Amino acid sequence: MDEKTYKITEELKVAYEVDILVVGGGPAGVSAAFSASRLGMNTLLIEQFNCLGGVATAGGHGHICLYSSWGTNERIVGGITFEIAKRVTEAGFGVHNNSSLDFEVEGMKLVLEKMAEESGVKLLYHTFFSDSIVEDGKIIGVIVQNKSGRQVILAKRIIDCTGDGDVSAKAGCEFYFGEDGTGLCQPATLMFTIGGVDYERVRAFRGNDYKLEWVWKKAQENGDMRPFQDQVMGWWWTPTRPDFLGINFTHINFINSTKAEDLTKATIEGRKQAYESIEVFRKYIPGMENCYMVSTPNTVGIRESRRIKGEYTLTKDDVLSQRKFDNSIGYGSFFIDIHNVSGPGMDKKTIRPDKGFKYQIPYTILVPKDIDNLLVAGRCVSVDHEALGSLRVMPQCGVLGEAAGTASVLSIQENTTPRNIDIKKLQGMLKKQGCIIDENDIVRANK
Ligand SMILES: Cc1cc2nc3c(=O)[nH]c(=O)nc-3n(C[C@H](O)[C@H](O)[C@H](O)COP(=O)(O)OP(=O)(O)OC[C@H]3O[C@@H](n4cnc5c(N)ncnc54)[C@H](O)[C@@H]3O)c2cc1C
Repeated sequence: MDEKTYKITEELKVAYEVDILVVGGGPAGVSAAFSASRLGMNTLLIEQFNCLGGVATAGGHGHICLYSSWGTNERIVGGITFEIAKRVTEAGFGVHNNSSLDFEVEGMKLVLEKMAEESGVKLLYHTFFSDSIVEDGKIIGVIVQNKSGRQVILAKRIIDCTGDGDVSAKAGCEFYFGEDGTGLCQPATLMFTIGGVDYERVRAFRGNDYKLEWVWKKAQENGDMRPFQDQVMGWWWTPTRPDFLGINFTHINFINSTKAEDLTKATIEGRKQAYESIEVFRKYIPGMENCYMVSTPNTVGIRESRRIKGEYTLTKDDVLSQRKFDNSIGYGSFFIDIHNVSGPGMDKKTIRPDKGFKYQIPYTILVPKDIDNLLVAGRCVSVDHEALGSLRVMPQCGVLGEAAGTASVLSIQENTTPRNIDIKKLQGMLKKQGCIIDENDIVRANK
């Protein structure tokens, strides 16, 4: 049956005209916007929620990893992304080392807003991107909806940091979706934070058994838990909030995050699983007898959806062969971390590499092949399903964001398109900003 439609014609107010518009304020969006604004461009960042940080804040996930190559202490991420880790630690909201940052979600929000203010970027919260305006193969603006109404924002360059690639899809870019063949995406997870935890006892109970699979098996056999999960995905602790734990445990399969109905379903089911988990924790985990719900976040966490087809698509083979690229904008190093697309636990495609594993990220995965003056950063870049399993973590999303912000500035300065910038100049600018692009930049000691 044909879809029912309703035609409207409307004339919209142009609310802003800027040099660079960043859509989405997650790890990719903040790095893109801060870098562009620090380089002197009139930059606007729009965000649907009331904070910066994406999954790290609105998604309730207080753990960022890895800044180092796999299993080592050599740091392969710098620039704004590592600066954020240092600022959060200095502010007393968490602790970082050369590999990871554990932090209080609320503190991260404050630090990112401070950094935004210092950079000069204009923030517009509570603003939802709804459509792209494309003329002659170039994006020239977007339509947004917020309390002020439906409005137009015009920009010389636009960076799509929505995670889902909303701007690019609406602009007509082609995209990949989910795993090859089935199109299924990794499951969604509603993070939650619990309080009243005696962490020392929890730690002693776990020992080296990170996953505690036998506990969830027993709880399921006893009828205390539905089979949505079979292992701990992450219990995140920071010494600045010692009786709290951030829980990565809920799993909601068969979700397409580009559909409002699926997001609603995932949120409701995620919250049910979270409360069910707390009952199980109280009964089975020493040190959690008195734990209670502190918060569920603004939004369910999404691991995978659209991946916008770019000038180049980074593949599993590139990642596993630790390929080097002349047009490198930084490094990735996380294992191929794929959660089961159709059930609990991890997927068979998960691969843990050898110690020291790292690979370079080529600039061209940020450049959509179909549309000019548009760059993509974050988890919606041009990668295959397996490469995304590694590249999707927050440090790499930040690396991609800083490269996109800087490339947008360079393309305006050089009066060319982001597709045609001088890559050596971009790499020079990124190095000046403290980014780690090649072997010479890698930080070998704990600094
Ligand atoms: C449950 C879970 C656990 C994870 N664990 C880890 C981990 O331990 N360590 C790690 O480093 N990474 C982890 N990741 C991966 C990582 O958090 C994400 O891949 C990363 O945050 C993606 O960054 P991003 O900027 O592309 O997107 P996001 O963080 O999703 O940010 C996108 C932003 O865009 C906004 N937005 C989206 N659409 C619109 C729109 N139409 N209009 C306006 N605003 C919009 C969103 O509100 C959001 O703020 C995890 C992810 C999940 C879901």
